[in-house]
Amino acid sequence: MNAVSDIAREAGIIGAGGAGFPTHVKLSGRAEIVIANGAECEPLLEADVRLMEERAFEVVEGLCLAMAATGAQKGYLAVKAKNEAAIRAVDRVLSAVPEDIEVHLLDDYYPAGDEFVLVPEVTGRRVPAMGIPISVGVVVHNVGSLFNLHQARLGKPVTERRLTVTGFVRKTQTMTVPVGALAFDVLAAVGGPTCADPVIIAGGPMMGRVVDTLDEPVTKTTSGLIVLPATHPLAVMRTMPLAERLARTRTACDLCRRCTDLCPRFGLGHQLRPDEILRAVGYSLRPPEFDGLYRSAWLCSGCNLCELYACPLFLYPASINVALKAEMAAGGLGLRAAQQAPLPRPETPRVLVNDLIRRLGLSAVAKQDIGRQERPLEVDRVRLLMRQHLGAPAAPVVRIGDQVEAGQVVGEIPRGALGARVHASINGRVTAVSAEAVEVAA
Ligand code: SF4
Ligand code: SF4
Repeated sequence: MNAVSDIAREAGIIGAGGAGFPTHVKLSGRAEIVIANGAECEPLLEADVRLMEERAFEVVEGLCLAMAATGAQKGYLAVKAKNEAAIRAVDRVLSAVPEDIEVHLLDDYYPAGDEFVLVPEVTGRRVPAMGIPISVGVVVHNVGSLFNLHQARLGKPVTERRLTVTGFVRKTQTMTVPVGALAFDVLAAVGGPTCADPVIIAGGPMMGRVVDTLDEPVTKTTSGLIVLPATHPLAVMRTMPLAERLARTRTACDLCRRCTDLCPRFGLGHQLRPDEILRAVGYSLRPPEFDGLYRSAWLCSGCNLCELYACPLFLYPASINVALKAEMAAGGLGLRAAQQAPLPRPETPRVLVNDLIRRLGLSAVAKQDIGRQERPLEVDRVRLLMRQHLGAPAAPVVRIGDQVEAGQVVGEIPRGALGARVHASINGRVTAVSAEAVEVAA
């Protein structure tokens, strides 16, 4: 641990890009290179891009803090070349800092922000399958996490989240909302859905999760809310029950192999072949014959390119991997060491985001202008989940009836566990406490 790591721990900072790994852990070791990940490769979202445009100083300061904490001599800020305003803003700030930091320009492809793809692209170093970037001397932080690190240095814990609200809503907008704000209140602030029977995806269209109820809260990792009519092809695919996805995929696959050929992890040389897994599942081949093949599902990142883009028959190879992982986790089956060695592979074709948008049927949505919000959203109730991060859930440290202030700790990291603190995001009275969440009303 070091002072910067302590600050991150106190402030409850986690990976804002989606995985939610506690940032203080990444700041507590040594590294040679730190990458600020501003790739924001999911279509439709632009919370990170706006952050770099509007708060470039704080993002760069956060990167400098992360470099100092880990002893890294080299920093990169990875951003897509198309985001010219963000690049200009970052360049202006970088010209005034002494650290050795370069802007690395990325093409507009998906999944450019995946650490396994990003680290070799920026540094030429390849992260081993099932490894982490630090195994090759690199640490990657989302630009939102670095912004939060700067804020934490000023004594401000993570109480807000920047996200893009888009799709079939009255006013598409990138906005800052209190962590714990309910989807209902966020959507109300943009005028609500413009379609009947809306399906809401929290996150991006590729890796986001369908929201079950409008009472679901925004978390520290919620990068967007996308509203689609239930009849939209993407909504249909994302809401299909898993059992039906599996049944269709088992019976209809024509073994064309396109899912494997476009799989980014296969392209990196990882021993992952979704078409072969599918064939084994389709023929109901069971371990031990296909034990190793099934286990290779652990190498799947869940990027969903195979099922939302590659497969010409709209089948669900990624969902098969999800089901296999759940089954293997229950049985205590992990990846085998032999499968972690990379194989030489020809370069995988890159999937351009514009092609992805067309395939997802989101061209009209992508053309909408995304507005800017003048000031952060104010809400009169929040639901603060105790598990917004990887590791153990936070343990509530308040009781019903307590008065809390924004920034006050309401969930603490259990002793000796990997985790992250949770803070109140509004002033108010605690109205509910459980192992899952603390609710506060203004
Ligand atoms: S979701 Fe599909 S394309 Fe993505 S890593 Fe997994 S198998 Fe490969
Ligand atoms: S792309 Fe679709 S049809 Fe082709 S092998 Fe993969 S799952 Fe089967």
